[in-house]
Amino acid sequence: MMGISLDSSHYISTRGGIAPVDFADAVMMGLATDGGLLVPGSFPQVDASTLDGWRRLTYPELAFEVMRPFVGDSLPAETLRRLVQDSYATFDTPDVVPIRPLDNKSLFIAELYHGPTLAFKDVALQFLGNLFAELLRQRGGRLNILGATSGDTGSAAIHGVRGKAGIEIFILYPEGRVSPLQERQMATVPDANVHCIAIEGTFDDGQRVMKQVFNDLPFKEKNHLGAVNSVNWARILAQVVYYFWGAFRVQELSGSATPIQVCVPTGNFGDIFAGYVARRMGAPIARLLLATNENDILSRFFNTGTYAKGTVHPTLSPSMDIQVASNFERYLYYRLGEDAARTKAMMMEFEQNGSITLEDADPTFAAGRGDTASTLATIRKHYEQYGVLLDPHGAVGVTVAEANPLPGLKTLCLETAHPGKFPAAVEQALGDGTPARHESLEKLKKLPLRKALLQPTVPVIEEYIIQTLAGKA
Ligand SMILES: *Cc1c(COP(=O)(O)O)cnc(C)c1O
Repeated sequence: MMGISLDSSHYISTRGGIAPVDFADAVMMGLATDGGLLVPGSFPQVDASTLDGWRRLTYPELAFEVMRPFVGDSLPAETLRRLVQDSYATFDTPDVVPIRPLDNKSLFIAELYHGPTLAFKDVALQFLGNLFAELLRQRGGRLNILGATSGDTGSAAIHGVRGKAGIEIFILYPEGRVSPLQERQMATVPDANVHCIAIEGTFDDGQRVMKQVFNDLPFKEKNHLGAVNSVNWARILAQVVYYFWGAFRVQELSGSATPIQVCVPTGNFGDIFAGYVARRMGAPIARLLLATNENDILSRFFNTGTYAKGTVHPTLSPSMDIQVASNFERYLYYRLGEDAARTKAMMMEFEQNGSITLEDADPTFAAGRGDTASTLATIRKHYEQYGVLLDPHGAVGVTVAEANPLPGLKTLCLETAHPGKFPAAVEQALGDGTPARHESLEKLKKLPLRKALLQPTVPVIEEYIIQTLAGKA
């Protein structure tokens, strides 16, 4: 009825090794069982009159319309509508993602930080938490989530599932090595299904022990262990929505029907891949501009054709400090003409050699990098000239957007976190004691911390999980 093809609600692997699964199975599977990533059988095509109808919708109404063709028969329409409503009712503004002009000329900003943990991951994880709870209710069973975090993802995941029936969440983080604010966002959550584990070690120790526990298959199965990592298709899907929303609002604010450019501060390629999906569906997006910090594997790839691993440098934008982007394989699959055999071969080549090269550029993308000095200068400039305080991730994006305008087109810059989450970087930029604060973060300072302090070894972590779950049975 809307020019939407049917098989967008069935999912296949980028490596071609699984039979198609429906949306619910894709969400519960996370990573495809052949080691690839799940992608929809096709992209629904949204025609011009449907797009015009979508412009008038509220954010939750639009989210329902964008998601529905990918969900298919996995959920009744009314259930999906309710999940979306519930997921965005926790945001502090009915607009969910407010769009504002940035410099009164050509740049706009999408405020993706109005969710409970003040970062864009809430947009996806509020929805994923409700979706998991609903699928467990339908199918019966339980889900015990285990994750390791260096900060942002852990808190967004905890807030996505806190208090949900049938779900427990265990989050490992390095004691003394996440910011006090990030620790409070996790360990002050009072719900009984939230279990924060500060480990005596580094973030890598946390990652390692988490992987080892997942590799203990009998333990994993017996304890219904699951993950909430950034490759889950439902996380991508929830993010597709604000690319439509953002493009509509920029066109409205600028009184123009011209497609826009969207600039995305990028780490694991999840967010910008959602933009790619929106564009493939027909969102009025002329070009996606990928922004990295000094960890620039992706901006190097789009500028040279070579995807080559480097070493990770810590920066002011820690959520973008990655070298191997977990969602890149999805893009590679489309770039190779949906050829799963070639995708698999190239991923194998990358694993072996740490590098792959593609011929031909993709005009859908442009890319650039913002280093520490330019990021700090961008924060200062926009604060002084326009009174807008950017967080260091968003500032990397704005730096790259200013260097890569498209003549005659507006650029929407995604602001992925509230500056109050990164007070040290903001202080470094402004140097005048101007506080980057957020009321909800101030309130956390008075709450007690609830956490276990454990050694990062498999027996210790498994025993803690077993004892905790036994205490609930
Ligand atoms: C996760 C994150 C990013 C990077 O998003 P990807 O989907 O990994 O590319 C950017 N900014 C912030 C604040 C984040 O938390």
